Amino acid sequence: MDVIASISTAPGIGGIGIVRMSGKDCFSVLNKIFRPKKEENIENIRGYTIKYGVIIENNEIIDEVLVSYFKEPKSYTTENMCEINTHGGNIIIKKILELCLKNGANLAEPGEFTKRAFLNGRIDLSQAESVIDIINSKSEKEVKAGIKQLEGMLSKKIKEIKQEILDVMVNVDVSIDYPEYDVDDVTNNQILDMLDSIEIKLKNLEKSFDNGKLIKDGIKTAIIGKPNAGKSSLLNAILKEDRAIVTEYEGTTRDTIEEFVNIEGIPLKLVDTAGIREAKDEVEKIGIAKSKEIANEADLIIAIFDGSKELSEEDYKILDIIYGKKCIILLNKVDLKNNLKEEDIRFKNITDHVIKISALNGDGLEKLYNVIAKMFNLNEINLDNDVIITNLRHKKLISNAIENVKKAKQTVNENMPLDIIAIFIKDILEDLGNITGEFVTDDIINEIFAKFCLGK
Ligand code: GDP
Repeated sequence: MDVIASISTAPGIGGIGIVRMSGKDCFSVLNKIFRPKKEENIENIRGYTIKYGVIIENNEIIDEVLVSYFKEPKSYTTENMCEINTHGGNIIIKKILELCLKNGANLAEPGEFTKRAFLNGRIDLSQAESVIDIINSKSEKEVKAGIKQLEGMLSKKIKEIKQEILDVMVNVDVSIDYPEYDVDDVTNNQILDMLDSIEIKLKNLEKSFDNGKLIKDGIKTAIIGKPNAGKSSLLNAILKEDRAIVTEYEGTTRDTIEEFVNIEGIPLKLVDTAGIREAKDEVEKIGIAKSKEIANEADLIIAIFDGSKELSEEDYKILDIIYGKKCIILLNKVDLKNNLKEEDIRFKNITDHVIKISALNGDGLEKLYNVIAKMFNLNEINLDNDVIITNLRHKKLISNAIENVKKAKQTVNENMPLDIIAIFIKDILEDLGNITGEFVTDDIINEIFAKFCLGK
């Protein structure tokens, strides 16, 4: 394949920057721009070594660099690769990339290094997809799920299921090719047993997506309450916690910012935090209609009430909004004299989870986190031993496979000819093969890698 080059470090100023190249002839490109301190024939340089020298253009030194050499097949892409470690300034890094391009390299597309690792067979598609998940992770558990997938935990599981199918399919194919051997009865039973067995395994994988989705997308959490109940104080208290890793993501519209905090390694995605803050400046504070809208979209509602006051009409409206939803009620301002009777708030049995807090001094926050962890069984998510699907593409393919298992079972039960049964079973194999990338189309591959960042 041709030589590709890209800047692999994030844009901006940093200690070092890395320009990366991959491709059979990448060392010839390198030789045109790099003058090592100690000249050495490239043939003699071993993989996994680093050389010190300078990048030159027209005999002028552009930068002092270190170059790492990786020789095929022992590299990220399995091709010859080198990484030029430059000083981390935008101008220098861009200049060095330009020199690589001028001397024969092509600009890499987003994710092209990882795509090559996949196309060259070093990793399968699900492993390649985990790379982007690891890079984009917002929580420790998400990183761990990504690492497990990169290690091949999902691939191994899929392989096992496929092998189970193939073991039986051998007999099916024999029966189709040599119908004179009367093995139909045996084969039908065998097929049904196999289909039952893989259906259980596939359903377990499908179910694991409930947790996988939590790990990946976080728990979409809305904080609602009437004006002055303490919403923004609570928000600030949560975001200020040492353990909270706060990441701000630009939302789809210019004004929305999603903020994430970590609870037991799972991201809590706080919705409409911008709304809560903006409401401060508005005469009309965040209204009931808006609260309703936010509450409807959330996985979890934290409804906050001012414990220093009796329940007001607005509070009752909030109670109506959260009725029947997954929610936690907070009685805020416990540091003040209590005027809100807990029975009043509990009268509708909206939730078991009523917690007294002080958003001002942080009392009760720990309890809040524990309750959230319990409500979503976060402590039971076991990433060490269980394969957990976090990718929606994989989940859809597994659901398809389960549908095809059902169809296959029906054909067996209806005593259809073996070649018809075989068609449905092959569909299952195809669904599974799409996860690991065996049967996948170029369009899907391109779509997956387009989501990568440059230089990966
Ligand atoms: P919001 O309108 O729901 O966002 O409410 P704020 O967070 O702005 O709080 C309204 C007022 O209540 C502010 O003056 C806060 O300082 C105060 N407040 C919030 N939480 C507490 C608390 O736990 N104890 C006390 N004493 N005051 C609080």
